[in-house]
Amino acid sequence: MDQSPRDVIVVGGGISGLTVAWHLARAGVGVTLLEADHEVGGCMRSEHRDGFLLEKGPFNVIVRDESFEELLTSLSDQVQVVAASKAARARYIYRNGRLIRVPTNPAALVSSPLLSFEAKCRLLRGVLASRRGSDADYTIEDFAVRRLGQEVSDTLVSAAIAGILAGDIRKLSLRACFPSIWSFDRRARSPLAYALGTPFRKKKGGKRSRRWRGLVSIDRGLGALAEAAGKDLGEGLVTGCRVEALSLRDNGFGLTCVDDGGAARSWSCRRLVMALPAADAGRLLGTHLPEVGSILDSIVSAPLVVLNLAFKAPDVGHPMQGFGFLVPHNEPDFPLMGVLWADSAFPHHGRVGHRLIRVFIGGTRTPEVLSRSDDELLATASGALRELLQITGEPTLVDVCRYPAAIPQYHLGYVEKIERLRAAASSVNGLHLAGNYLEGVSINDCVRLGRRVAREIIDAR
Ligand SMILES: Cc1cc2nc3c(=O)[nH]c(=O)nc-3n(C[C@H](O)[C@H](O)[C@H](O)COP(=O)(O)OP(=O)(O)OC[C@H]3O[C@@H](n4cnc5c(N)ncnc54)[C@H](O)[C@@H]3O)c2cc1C
Repeated sequence: MDQSPRDVIVVGGGISGLTVAWHLARAGVGVTLLEADHEVGGCMRSEHRDGFLLEKGPFNVIVRDESFEELLTSLSDQVQVVAASKAARARYIYRNGRLIRVPTNPAALVSSPLLSFEAKCRLLRGVLASRRGSDADYTIEDFAVRRLGQEVSDTLVSAAIAGILAGDIRKLSLRACFPSIWSFDRRARSPLAYALGTPFRKKKGGKRSRRWRGLVSIDRGLGALAEAAGKDLGEGLVTGCRVEALSLRDNGFGLTCVDDGGAARSWSCRRLVMALPAADAGRLLGTHLPEVGSILDSIVSAPLVVLNLAFKAPDVGHPMQGFGFLVPHNEPDFPLMGVLWADSAFPHHGRVGHRLIRVFIGGTRTPEVLSRSDDELLATASGALRELLQITGEPTLVDVCRYPAAIPQYHLGYVEKIERLRAAASSVNGLHLAGNYLEGVSINDCVRLGRRVAREIIDAR
């Protein structure tokens, strides 16, 4: 069945595509969003079950960007923002069989058993003054070792990066993953002096008043934010519609979608936004743009499994007050990447008389994780946590979510790779790219890019 021609079609209803479509719709542009699944949100999904709020994919957002604030403010009649608890400031690292709190001030650092005396001295020296980075691309580990020392890199930085990017600091490019840190690293000899000067630099540029700060969640879960954005698209949102093929035409694009029943529908548009994971975008675009296809195919993504586990409170001996813990790469025998104490960070996720945790397994450390059955994954988690968190009973709820391509890995050379991709895609008039493989993987990053893509389309009209 042929649909009438559209001005703009966005393919993919994750937060990237939703943001593009939402801004276009608000600006009065005729936009249609095609999403393969029956719900929007992509990996940003939430479920209410047995009195718990389960986040199936992302858990929280750090409000860093004005574009994300704009989305939250505009949707505030449908979703309420919930700040993380004060307890969430306490974070732990798994080290030699126990959980050690990450020190957050100099006094706590001095007495912390997390680092050796030598590592603390090296950290202090590096923070006062250390060698600048070069203009070349280098890894997060190169940066961390040069500035903070090997032990801090192995223990703290590798654990933090596992939590943020599920990746390996020995391969990830500092420039691509954290451009602002890369920019500071090339300019300042003293990280401390630079940090102390930052508030003044910000003021000079005009300080914005911020409605939300730090870590936030949504009262009905992050999935509700996606739902709310999708609702604003009205009839412009088409779910259950997988784009199977596309064609380039003289004045636009043709798309063929297949619904669950196998029925095909044809769409056409003047402008096309591909807001898909890299591999999916590569499959569709590669037929007509081999270079675009091969660059997208070459992007490696880390697999991830998220287990939401609930226990009766008396069955958990550990207080689990805090955000949770992460595991550094120099603990290869511990089979988990990290555990979040979900109901401590966000009490509205939990249920009275119970405890709720989120366990991460996989990442680039354990890529074979997806081949394990639910029972094997549960056994791995239970085995690792029973003693550590003093768990005596079986979980009352188990939820397993698999992500074969959870987080794109911005390895060395990534900035040039994306430049080549953009150059190759720009040969097609009216084609736009959005998604977490372009300018950052966080929800903030996806929303920021999505708004920019929408503005480019609005400006070009
Ligand atoms: C387990 C996990 C935890 C995370 N935790 C956090 C966190 O706590 N904080 C944070 O900021 N970020 C987090 N992230 C990262 C962030 O959530 C993602 O980078 C972001 O949500 C990606 O959004 P997206 O729209 O680019 O892609 P996706 O969410 O993958 O959306 C792509 C959409 O395209 C659709 N699609 C695919 N193929 C087709 C097709 N052929 N036709 C039509 N539709 C199609 C898919 O169904 C999907 O809905 C996490 C990611 C994961 C996986």
